[in-house]
Amino acid sequence: MTNLAPSDKALVPFVSVDNMMKLVHHVGVEPMLKGLADYIEADFKRWELFDKTPRVASHSDEGVIELMPTSDGEVYGFKYVNGHPKNMKEGLQTVTAFGLLANVGNGYPVLLSEMTVLTALRTAATSAMVAKHLAPKGATTMAMIGNGAQSEFQSLAMKAICGVDTVRLYDIDPAATEKAARNLEGWGMNVVACKTAEESMEGAQIITTCTADKQYATILTDNMIGAGVHINAIGGDCPGKTELHKDILSRSDVFVEYPPQTRIEGEIQQMADDFPVTEMWEVINGTAKGRTSDRQITLFDSVGFAIEDFSALRFVRDRIKGTDYFMDLDLLADPDDPRDLFGMLQRAAS
Ligand code: NAD
Repeated sequence: MTNLAPSDKALVPFVSVDNMMKLVHHVGVEPMLKGLADYIEADFKRWELFDKTPRVASHSDEGVIELMPTSDGEVYGFKYVNGHPKNMKEGLQTVTAFGLLANVGNGYPVLLSEMTVLTALRTAATSAMVAKHLAPKGATTMAMIGNGAQSEFQSLAMKAICGVDTVRLYDIDPAATEKAARNLEGWGMNVVACKTAEESMEGAQIITTCTADKQYATILTDNMIGAGVHINAIGGDCPGKTELHKDILSRSDVFVEYPPQTRIEGEIQQMADDFPVTEMWEVINGTAKGRTSDRQITLFDSVGFAIEDFSALRFVRDRIKGTDYFMDLDLLADPDDPRDLFGMLQRAAS
């Protein structure tokens, strides 16, 4: 764990979007996805240590704004994140985020960071880390349904961490598929643009759904899913927002992050409260079974959990040390005499 002693100046390192992008290129996109997956897996291994709560969501007709807190007893973290499917048509991001780490010992923040880029990286790293445990051995082809902001990150994480070499793209908007295909050129993957969801799934051992619609959608129906595949369901992550027909859930073994949150937000909101699920941290620790047969359909019902953001912020905090990829923020009032806050304010007038 990193040393979290506050600096003498009580300045807080801040990673802007510009610096996050510089950091990603400094580390390298694929090494960064692998590094994030390692940090996330390490935190899943010590899952029981963490304070856990379903995220605090404020819903509106247009979208949702959420706070995602957690702590491992030494470090506290939270992320602010929104989800507004209609934003894309207005030229805005569907998902934007920022996050913070703080020292549990004195409550002082120790890192503030943009998390829009980081969320795309951590979501993709989590998907691939989970697929490493659940996807059929030797999987090389992924169907990528929904070719928006997350899709290239999802594709490259599956390449870097699971050895996927072919991605078959589909989106209801062909312009999104064209964009993703263009962006993935030169990354060493075979990229196939498809005209239907069914076509994208031909020969795919991994099927990723990552669409955005604030309603129950049916991106996949039961007859589309053959035996033995791994489904990585990313887009259904809010009450009333799902992507899979419930018959697929009945035929699959469903793996989740934190059941109290997934039962509210995930694909399994369509099922009874006692629908059986397996927690991913148990598979990683070997206390629960993952894939047990070639014909089994495994389904990662991903909603995104606070511990993944905590891991990602921890990675960033460790990686910015010794670099210029942050600026120090004067975020904390920290008078020399802790009781003389007003005196400090008065002196600032002169
Ligand atoms: P985005 O708006 O950039 O892209 C979504 C894409 O889905 C668009 O290109 C749209 O045309 C396409 N789409 C919509 N309906 C479709 C359909 N029926 N078939 C095929 N394509 C369809 O959004 P994004 O940032 O890529 O996020 C995608 C989803 O992932 C969102 O719902 C978001 O909330 C969710 N998300 C989940 C996590 C997680 O941890 N599970 C993290 C980040 C984002």
